Amino acid sequence: MGANGMQNKAHTQSKKIMEQSQKAFPGGVNSPVRSFRSVGGLPVVFSHGLAKTLFDVDGNQYTDFCSSWGPLILGYSHPVVLSAIAEQMKRAVTFGAPCKEELTLAEKIKSWIPGIDLLRFVSSGTEATMSALRAARAATGKNKFIKFEGCYHGHADCFLVSAGSGLATLGQPSSSGVPPKAAEDTLVAIYNDEKSVERLFQAHGQDIAAIIVEPVAANMGLVLPKKGFLNFLRDITKKHQSLLIFDEVMTGFRLSQGGAAQTYGVMPDLWTFGKIIGGGLPCAAYGGIYDVMKHIAPLGTAYQAGTLSGNPLAMAAGLATLNEMERCNAFSELENKGQQLDQLVTKHLSVFIESGKMCYQRIASFFCFFFGTNQVPQNFEQVSHTDMALFNKVYHAWLEAGIYLGPSGYEVGFLSTAIELSDMEKMISVIVSVLE
Ligand SMILES: *Cc1c(COP(=O)(O)O)cnc(C)c1O
Repeated sequence: MGANGMQNKAHTQSKKIMEQSQKAFPGGVNSPVRSFRSVGGLPVVFSHGLAKTLFDVDGNQYTDFCSSWGPLILGYSHPVVLSAIAEQMKRAVTFGAPCKEELTLAEKIKSWIPGIDLLRFVSSGTEATMSALRAARAATGKNKFIKFEGCYHGHADCFLVSAGSGLATLGQPSSSGVPPKAAEDTLVAIYNDEKSVERLFQAHGQDIAAIIVEPVAANMGLVLPKKGFLNFLRDITKKHQSLLIFDEVMTGFRLSQGGAAQTYGVMPDLWTFGKIIGGGLPCAAYGGIYDVMKHIAPLGTAYQAGTLSGNPLAMAAGLATLNEMERCNAFSELENKGQQLDQLVTKHLSVFIESGKMCYQRIASFFCFFFGTNQVPQNFEQVSHTDMALFNKVYHAWLEAGIYLGPSGYEVGFLSTAIELSDMEKMISVIVSVLE
């Protein structure tokens, strides 16, 4: 029997399925992080989930702090979401034609996030960012754009780019299969570093269509924008007739009802959404001010399309999720849980923080533990210097104790409304036992 009596079964089935999966998928998976390469060991293969609990194919249980990378903010198999899907399923699972459900969800999103005049549904965050950039390029007639090191915007060619060597150089592909030409128009700046952005505008100011940024960076652990950083991005893009794109695929509908614009008081020109927007079904969106979105076909000449875009099943799941969040005051409930987590950290982890062994970051229902330093990282380089080996140790102790988070020290933790104080206590107690 495992430490808490939950992990009492060997991972025989998981192991068997993963072995067979190696013969079906590259690396056995359909998205690389799932392979556990980052933390080591074999992935857990899940069979079902209920509220805060995940069940694997061997009958082990885990408390879920991953929420399928964010979408399941209400927990697994939420009855309201399930019944919305079931009702829609009886009518049609897809039309490939306009349906009322897409309008209802769009109006809900627009009511939550003022400033979006027009939006377009797509099927993944990758499509949303790719298309938002196309809109920005079409609207400005410029080709280059700035992204920040460590921010993730999906896997379109032009986003798989790392900084070139030296100042103000052009980006270089960070993935094989991406032609250098596709990376050429990508300029890479350092998160929270205004100078790095200024230098790029000095060198390429006339040619920069947009800055794309995660307004809270949640794909390099959790890095918050320092005070004034987003304002600075707003000002410098305005000054150079460039556009500002908030990639809110992760932060949208989780950071606050109005997203980063509400939390930080900075309005972008374009937004991208995903994850929560589809309630766990494949769905994403991009949108923004009319003057930019009017360039999208068929209103304008920038082509962008999708067979399953505005899929009624995804619309139903997304709408049910947002409605239920409103009904149960999800944002204040999650903030309360977040503050409980802060208090647990103060109570049980202060000793490790003071001695420089770790630090902790949280905003809304995002949280992250960094190890090997008590200086909360401000950019990707600082995150990459944290102690990932120690994170991996903690990660496996969590798994052993029946706690599931995304399998990488570069991933953020998520609270869902289903999480309770005792779950957070357990997560913290595992950190204590590893660090001791
Ligand atoms: C997850 C994510 C994406 C990519 O979304 P997919 O649906 O996985 O393609 C883009 N941007 C951010 C900020 C994300 O967190």
